[in-house]
Amino acid sequence: MNPKIAHFILQNNPVTPCLIFDVDEVENHYQLLRQMLPKGRIYYAVKANPAMAVLKRLVKLGACFDAASWEEIALCLEAGAQPNSISFGNTIKKVSAIRAAYGAGIRLFAFDCREELEKIAQNAPGSLVYCRLLVDGYKAEWPLSRKFGTTVESAHDLMCEARTLGLDPYGLSFHVGSQQLSVEAYEVAIARVASLFEELKIEGVNVRMLNLGGGFPVSYADDVPSIDNFTKAISNTISRYFGDVWPEVLLEPGRFIVGKAGVVYTEAVLVSARGARNGVRWVYLDIGRFGGLAETENESIRYAIHAWRGVESDFYREKESDLAPVVLAGPTCDGADILYEKAHYMLPQDLKSGDRLIILSAGAYVSTYCSTSFNGFPPLAEYYI
Ligand SMILES: *Cc1c(COP(=O)(O)O)cnc(C)c1O
Repeated sequence: MNPKIAHFILQNNPVTPCLIFDVDEVENHYQLLRQMLPKGRIYYAVKANPAMAVLKRLVKLGACFDAASWEEIALCLEAGAQPNSISFGNTIKKVSAIRAAYGAGIRLFAFDCREELEKIAQNAPGSLVYCRLLVDGYKAEWPLSRKFGTTVESAHDLMCEARTLGLDPYGLSFHVGSQQLSVEAYEVAIARVASLFEELKIEGVNVRMLNLGGGFPVSYADDVPSIDNFTKAISNTISRYFGDVWPEVLLEPGRFIVGKAGVVYTEAVLVSARGARNGVRWVYLDIGRFGGLAETENESIRYAIHAWRGVESDFYREKESDLAPVVLAGPTCDGADILYEKAHYMLPQDLKSGDRLIILSAGAYVSTYCSTSFNGFPPLAEYYI
């Protein structure tokens, strides 16, 4: 447990549910990734957590930004980011958004099909563009790939076409899926991009940027390979294919930068045996699938959840013998609002209604996935400390 966050809870006893977020952790993770891959330029994926405090800290550190909408671009600009540090990385953009971005000085756009390329050519003439490739999701716990990206063959034609349309065919990108546990996913994707790089160079296309996307995992209930496993594999693979003359390398981490920085403080609204003979209690929290924990869908992201014992410095670890199995669910009237039924969650046997709990590593993809007022519940309160 982050001691600064524990201290904040003890001092303020905030109303639950809320996200408490240590902005210094953003800096720590940003610097760590920079150290591990000094040749890469970091474009923080704003969607992971677009809080102004996060964006401002990253601006101060010299980060760049991967934005998915005009609204996210506007947030980055408001935080002080320069237009040339922002990439409009969504391959699905409204024409009005492309125009607004271009008007604000954004000159870097992603695409994965002819239609989108033409939209960019018309509404952001002369801009730098990069084509997103379809890659295998491997062991991504929150996969993205099926929805985005195109084949190597089609990317080849589209990059040539970009030049014809008066755009600058700047680079190629992929995203191996979020919470990716396999370094091999990056190795295979880089190999695929490298061969296309060669082919495009032969065609005389001035392709010079490789965008590795995000996907770097953080530990939740289970540990994950540490970041150096990924950065070493990435470095080695790029060097294998490009030698000493690397293309410009962009990274778009979201989860890795903010995931560890946030803790959700929550209350057990009800602890119920529900007449079950197997002794499995149902614990209904005041946050669920619709309160921000959307990534529990299919029990994909398994958060570490513990009873809050009010201990400031060292995180209280329950004794195994004091724990008993639970099903975890949210507070809404929706039957889909169950967090974990199959995953084996254990909480103290003496847990009762009104007790507080903490959900660790909740800094990414929680605050924004929260519904506005389903069942009348207000959006998740957020504290950036
Ligand atoms: C969501 C997203 C990211 C961030 O992914 P993480 O797994 O959170 O690192 C990066 N790039 C693009 C294009 C994305 O859609």
